[in-house]
Formats: sequence, structure tokens, C-alpha cells
Amino acid sequence: MKTKVFWCKSCLNMSTRPRIEFNKDGFCNACLWSKEKKIFNWKKRIKELKKLLDKYKSKNNNFDCLVPVSGGKDGSYVSYILKHKYGMRPLAITSRPPLTLKVGNQNLENFVRSGYDHMHITPDENVMRRFNKEGFIHMGFPYYGWLVSIYSVVTNISLSLKIPLIFYGENGEVEYGGNLKKNTSKVSLKEIKRVFLEDGYKKVYNILKKKKKSLYWFTLPESKEKNFHITHWSYFEPWDPYRNYLVAKEKCNLTEKNETNFGTFTNFAQTDQALYDLHTYIMYLKFGFGRATQDAGIEIRRGAMTRDQALNLVRLYDGAYPENYIDDYLKYFQMSKQEFDKVLDRWANKKLFYKCKKTKIWKPKFLVGEDFHI
Ligand SMILES: [Zn+2]
Repeated sequence: MKTKVFWCKSCLNMSTRPRIEFNKDGFCNACLWSKEKKIFNWKKRIKELKKLLDKYKSKNNNFDCLVPVSGGKDGSYVSYILKHKYGMRPLAITSRPPLTLKVGNQNLENFVRSGYDHMHITPDENVMRRFNKEGFIHMGFPYYGWLVSIYSVVTNISLSLKIPLIFYGENGEVEYGGNLKKNTSKVSLKEIKRVFLEDGYKKVYNILKKKKKSLYWFTLPESKEKNFHITHWSYFEPWDPYRNYLVAKEKCNLTEKNETNFGTFTNFAQTDQALYDLHTYIMYLKFGFGRATQDAGIEIRRGAMTRDQALNLVRLYDGAYPENYIDDYLKYFQMSKQEFDKVLDRWANKKLFYKCKKTKIWKPKFLVGEDFHI
């Protein structure tokens, strides 16, 4: 039986997006939630937040909570609000990404120097590389190791320093499209593995374990759920990436790149590491939408762009082949171009794409915004 592939009537989210839900009129859950957000009773959530903060406020001069940061707008915003609006003592933590970018490094430094306690963990570069490489091959996720480390570094520090409360930024499932049932205050480690690590943690972890790698910074604690309260800031306050950007710029000296990011029309998000471009390219090959679709959705939902404007930008930018970076990726993964292409071929959705005989690059069989069947 054929399946219809379609785009959200409002924001261009694609029906192929994992776990996304649409109502009968064709609006995606991110758009429905962005409307609901405006009339939602946030007072109740703020009360819930204050209760949570009171519960975990340290009585013995310890830190009150942990905030994973990269120097980007979101972690900086959350740290700022926790510290200056709610009088908390957050400890910011960064797991050093692979292939860092100058602007990302500068932003992290600017953030730290704007007055935060900060811990910088650098997992063994070679283990990180292997973890990322296996993630690239087996999950189609080129910075899988770093993603795992973001969760495992924070939870391991949380356990050893006895700081149970952890604030991640937004719940992507709720804000950008996914499973709405997951909009709860507390996120379990089980859910982190299933949803945020796309159910591949054990698989990739075990490959590395067999190779006898030292995996401390990549190991999520088992069955210690009661020791944590992991939550998303977006649960307590209407999440607005653009507001976060403005606050981080003003209060934490966030800067942006001079040129736009690759494969999209923005220049202020995800500027900390170079594998993000490859990640969104493979996301495009897997599902048919790339970084421009994601960014356009955010702009449409905040009322800064019409769907038609977005359509033009998405058709222009989405899924661009990261030509200029390929050599860096090959060098990083220590792969030949052939091996690298084989991984891309493996993850390209053949129902959505065909391989151009001349360029050997995958081309879409569809036109963004025009329903079709696969
Ligand atoms: Zn939508």
C-alpha cells in the first residue's frame, strides 16, 4: 500500500518526521502547540517551577542545578534566567564537541566570562571520534558520540557532585514536531535513550565496549532514576528560540557568524561544531527535510515568515550537499570517500531520492510542499 507524504499546512514540517502527529486538518503538533502556548495557563507551570527550584535549592552552599551549555543561545538563556531571575546557583557544563568552530568557542568563552560557574569536560578525542564514526555508520548520526556524551557527562557529574536537578533547553518533540505525550516535567533516562538518543545507545555503546574503549564519559547511569530530576526549560515557560538569542546576545555576549550557516538561511543557531552540517544533510537523505525546513518552521511559528516565503527558501537551501566540508569529514572519520559515500547511500531513503548518474549525488523525487505517494 502506498503512503501519502505531505507537509504541514502551516509550517512545512514533513509527514516523514519521526513520531510527528498531525490533526485532521493537516496541522502538525508543533504548530498546534505554538498556538496553544499563547493562551496556555503558564502561571500554573511557573508555580510548578518555583516548587521544583525550592525543593532542590542547596542548603549547604552546593550548586542548585546543572545546565548543559554549548555557548549557544539556549543554554545561555536558561542559565541566565535561573541565576538572575530565580536566584539559583546553576553549574553550567559543557562536553567539548568534535570539530569545534571558532564562533562556537568564542561564544562559550563569552558566556563563561559573563559570570557563570562552568565545568568543561573533554572526553578522549579518539574515543569520541570512534563513537561518532560508529554512530555515523550504524545510526546515520555523525555526532552520535557527542550527543551521548551530553547526557552522560551531565548525569555522571550530577551523581558525583550530588546535584540532582538538570535543566535541558527545549523538548524538541513538543516544540518542533514529535510525540506530544512526552510533555512532562520529568524526563526519564529510559526516555532519553529511546527518544533523544533514537534508540541506538546500546548498539553503538556495545560496539565501542568490545573494542575496550574507556567509556566513562559515554556511559549513562543505569537504574538510578530516583537520583535525578531531569527536565526541559520549555516545560515551564513558552519556548522562543529568537527571544533566547536576543537575551543571550545582550546578557552573555553571544555573537553570530558573518555568513549564513550551510544549508539554511540563518546564522545564529548550532554554530558550535562542524558535524552539524553533515547531520542535517543525512537527516535530509533519511526523511526529505533539512536544516532550512527546521529553521523555516521556527520562523513561521513565531510569525516572522509566511509559508510561501518559507517554501521558496526551503526549496533553495534544503539538502545542499556539503561539498566544502567533505575533506574535513573524511579526515575526521579517517575514511575514504568511497567508504563515506557508502554510508550516505545506506541512509538515503530510496523512496524519496534517486542517485544522479552524473554527479553521484542523491536528488529528491519530490517537490517540497506538493503531496505525493510512496
Ligand atoms: Zn506545522
